[in-house]
Amino acid sequence: MSNMEYEPNYHRKLIEHLQWISDIGSDYVIVTIPFLIQIIKEQFPNLKIRVSTIAHVNSVNRAKFYESLGADEITPSIMINRDFKTLKNMQKAVKCKIVPLLTDGCLYQCPFRYYHYNLLGHSSQGDHQLGGNYIDSCILNCSAIKFSNKTEVIKARWIRPEDLSHYEEIGIDTFKIAGRRMSSEWITRAVKAFSSRKYEGNLVDIIQGFTMSIGIENDPHGKFQQAVDKESKSKLIIDNTKLDGFIEFFKTQDCISMCDECNYCEKWAEKAVFLDKEQAPKYVESIQDYLDDLVTSREFGVDTAKPKEKKEDEFKWDSETAQIFDKLIKLSPPQFQSIAKVVIASLAEEKAKKRESSMIENEDIIEAFIEGTPEPFQLDMREGLQKYGLIKEELNN
Ligand code: SF4
Ligand code: SF4
Repeated sequence: MSNMEYEPNYHRKLIEHLQWISDIGSDYVIVTIPFLIQIIKEQFPNLKIRVSTIAHVNSVNRAKFYESLGADEITPSIMINRDFKTLKNMQKAVKCKIVPLLTDGCLYQCPFRYYHYNLLGHSSQGDHQLGGNYIDSCILNCSAIKFSNKTEVIKARWIRPEDLSHYEEIGIDTFKIAGRRMSSEWITRAVKAFSSRKYEGNLVDIIQGFTMSIGIENDPHGKFQQAVDKESKSKLIIDNTKLDGFIEFFKTQDCISMCDECNYCEKWAEKAVFLDKEQAPKYVESIQDYLDDLVTSREFGVDTAKPKEKKEDEFKWDSETAQIFDKLIKLSPPQFQSIAKVVIASLAEEKAKKRESSMIENEDIIEAFIEGTPEPFQLDMREGLQKYGLIKEELNN
């Protein structure tokens, strides 16, 4: 919150907002910041509090602390989702319910996690000095790992619908299905799968984090997410029918200390995870290419930045086309820009290749933007194309 919770005017607005949440009859609020939990407990005792997974409750002692602050339920850190000993003792130690999050596909022990939530937190602040602009380098990094390393896909701490009974055996009977920014179709599918405790398909259909998805606020009806999901599913499959019995090993394994000497996840990955041999490496390469622009500071226009290495089969960009491309990308909402840049540039390369040319020109980016821009943003993008004289008005109809 950028410490704004301690600024009197902002603090007043915060209390008014909580009052509104309470007045409309909400049952629960999900909260991460301990100070906010204390405020809610003191001033809005009718609101029940669930501690968010972002508070990283990963030990018995931390769960007890949050309970003493006023928590009614706790969604623990997803990183302990397969740590049965800690979950069991945590549930035994507190009266509040421990509610594991089932549908999170983040990397096990992801190094970007705390930084990523900070990035998202600041980018969502209405009055932030950058107006929500940022580059999501975290999602680019983790996507490159997931689409190139099958074992990390298995190590991620998602929970299969078939495995809920193993959690009930240790006293946990309530679960969280995250996905509020996903499409209604996605949410219904996930809820059905977990309530029927069965899903005979690709887990990417019901687990988040295997698409280049982010906290998309301006995504009416989840349309952007649907487009991104479709794109990712063609590249990565986690065949849930091949994972029976997978969870048993975790009941005794100590993942936090043993990962270097254990090949359990690797063996299951060989059986159940499939990466498209052609598409996945191409996807990873375009992500890494952009990450290279970021870490060399080329993206930020630093004069001393290492120049881009020329690859043999690399596409060249017409200089005017490259400039227009950058300007058009900046028309997308800030949180989409890093993803849009990778996806549209890769589509433009395909178009140039089809023309049997190694030079990307205006006609390639026109087709790429029209094909790769999700429906809710088509109008803005077409206006942008018009502005730069790339399409005529009648194309709008
Ligand atoms: S979205 Fe990616 S970078 Fe962010 S916490 Fe999850 S795995 Fe890590
Ligand atoms: S310790 Fe073994 S089971 Fe646990 S995450 Fe590592 S490879 Fe998988």
